[in-house]
Amino acid sequence: MFGKLFSKKPDYDPDYDLKIEKSLSKNEYPAEKMEAARGAKHTSLCAQVCTPDVWKKYKNTVSTGPAKWTLARAINSGVMYPDSFVGCHAGDKESYDDFKGFFYPVIEKYHTGFSMEKGSSLKGSPSERMDPNRITVDLCDSAKDKIASTRIRLARNLSMFPLNPGGSRESREEVVGLMAKVYAQIPADSDLAGELFLHTTMPDEKRQELIDDHFLFRGKDRMQAASGYHEHWPHGRGVYLNMAKTFINWVNEGDHLRIISMEMGGDVRGVFERLSAGAKLIEDVVKAITGASEVFMMHPKFGAVTCCPSNIGTGMRGSVHIMVPKLIKAIGFDEIDRLCRERNCQARGSSGEHSEVVDRIDVSNWRRIGFPEYELVEDMILCANFLAEEEDKIPG
Ligand code: ADP
Ligand code: MG
Repeated sequence: MFGKLFSKKPDYDPDYDLKIEKSLSKNEYPAEKMEAARGAKHTSLCAQVCTPDVWKKYKNTVSTGPAKWTLARAINSGVMYPDSFVGCHAGDKESYDDFKGFFYPVIEKYHTGFSMEKGSSLKGSPSERMDPNRITVDLCDSAKDKIASTRIRLARNLSMFPLNPGGSRESREEVVGLMAKVYAQIPADSDLAGELFLHTTMPDEKRQELIDDHFLFRGKDRMQAASGYHEHWPHGRGVYLNMAKTFINWVNEGDHLRIISMEMGGDVRGVFERLSAGAKLIEDVVKAITGASEVFMMHPKFGAVTCCPSNIGTGMRGSVHIMVPKLIKAIGFDEIDRLCRERNCQARGSSGEHSEVVDRIDVSNWRRIGFPEYELVEDMILCANFLAEEEDKIPG
């Protein structure tokens, strides 16, 4: 019924189905696996923080929010896949505080320099901080020549639903049902007007085409499956595209919403401006329809609440795809990533996280918290300039 491509296998499919690791399914500490993870070269934040003491403290805690989240569920992906970087997820906004002896250190370890005690003191609303006129740096000519495309996204969750790992088929369908009403209210003459496509009715060819063009999420990810992201696939999933395919919303990939602005070339300010306008429009229309006083889930200490602790705060990742084939050949991806990290940025392959690297790099801000959105865009611009200059230094 849902076609062959990227649809899940009929029985247990590790790329989609949620399976709770054996010890965790009995609510027992996976001691051997955690010790092995802590002794390995790479240790996920989950294994670093979830010591036997932390486990003991929270093993019988149930979150006070709608997901009734548990520590066993929170750490499942990290326990099943020790090579994950973070390896834990929240099931509702309340999880972050209800398991604070676990989540706070994870947050502080990921967002180096951020203190949960002090919290974030960002002034103004996200849309005030997303004023392109506040960006003070520009791409240099060499970087502009090398940039294939620009994309800036916000991760957002709607305050009236549990986060997806703690949600159900119904909660996902309610999210997409609400968003369908929101998109229907975008005026037809607006640049942001477009169409919502649902995974349950989208032909496979269309889905593949959208994925290949970088407009759509891939699904089919073991680590994400172990968090519960992919449960009840493909129900409740969808993508909204404006006519020009420059304003895009992912619905229920992991977070309820990924609000995305993207286009070919390096007009970072223009992309940022459209994102700012689009995010505000979505927020205003959801508010008008639901009457909710707070549309997006916000935490008093850190801002936007997301399923994965890596995205909390601004929830913003701004990236350019930059062509640096000589640099990739000369120093390799890991070294490029290291240089980006020194500049508060990170490198990814050009088909998204964990994807292959060929001739271009996805360079984006790595910090998401405690800094205004325009400053995070500046980080990305400066790092793109740096990579372009490094590429130019290499003869040939
Ligand atoms: P996210 O942070 O939004 O989860 P991912 O790394 O998972 O990002 O990538 C999601 C999709 O967005 C992928 O198809 C990726 O190629 C695409 N993408 C990311 N940045 C850009 C960019 N600057 N230009 C074009 N496509 C991009
Ligand atoms: Mg992603």
